[in-house]
Amino acid sequence: VRIPLIAGNWKMNKTVTEAVTFTKQVTDQLPDPSEVETAIAAPAILLQPMIDANSGGRLQVAAENCYYENEGAYTGETSPMALKDMGLHYVIIGHSERRRYFNETDDIINRKVHAVYNNAMVPILCCDETMGRRESGEHVHWVVSQVTAALKGISDDEAKKLVIAYEPSWAIGSGKSASFDQAEEGCYLIRQTVADLYSDEIANQVRVLYGGSVNPDNVKGLMAKDNIDGVLAGGASLKEETFLQLTQYKN
Ligand code: 13P
Repeated sequence: VRIPLIAGNWKMNKTVTEAVTFTKQVTDQLPDPSEVETAIAAPAILLQPMIDANSGGRLQVAAENCYYENEGAYTGETSPMALKDMGLHYVIIGHSERRRYFNETDDIINRKVHAVYNNAMVPILCCDETMGRRESGEHVHWVVSQVTAALKGISDDEAKKLVIAYEPSWAIGSGKSASFDQAEEGCYLIRQTVADLYSDEIANQVRVLYGGSVNPDNVKGLMAKDNIDGVLAGGASLKEETFLQLTQYKN
């Protein structure tokens, strides 16, 4: 069985003070990770203070990005080895904002996926889709090609641990989520792609998340879908109350 994963992506929001307050407030109220896993991906400068504030230990503090080399002359980058040393388990890789504003190509994303696995962590690999591509019917090919390129050279053992997020760009930050059926269709497509690249067995272990205007009102309907194993929420993860509501979607 796939354990649901309710994840937040704070993007470039919050100060250390705010991040610590948030973490202290939610840490004792989160579900048992053997039933529902919870994670917040935050900017690198917030991670260690959040880990220190996570006294309940149920929150997976995660990174939003890292570089594909462990060390060297790469001014301003974040080392995956340093993230591992902090005790991190998840790193978001290939978010559409990284692809768009920071020119991350499929090749860069593939290197980063390798770097995360090489440091014994797990990538939350994001794959996007635009309205233009959807309207012209190219979105299926686009999603398949992003997943295929990101996983080049990734072994079966690595692949089965994977988390992949389907995040249509037109649903991100728009307040307009994909419909439950569109979200399910995208997540199904990703699982099928993993089945084609690896096997049905591996595809059944991979967790696929939906992201794009997830909120406490639509989380339950999304989570009821067969191929949606969790969510990646931006805006709704910024407030303690709404993040906790997402994690309590079963209630
Ligand atoms: P919103 O939930 O704010 O639409 O952001 C989604 C997202 O990009 C999560 O990675």
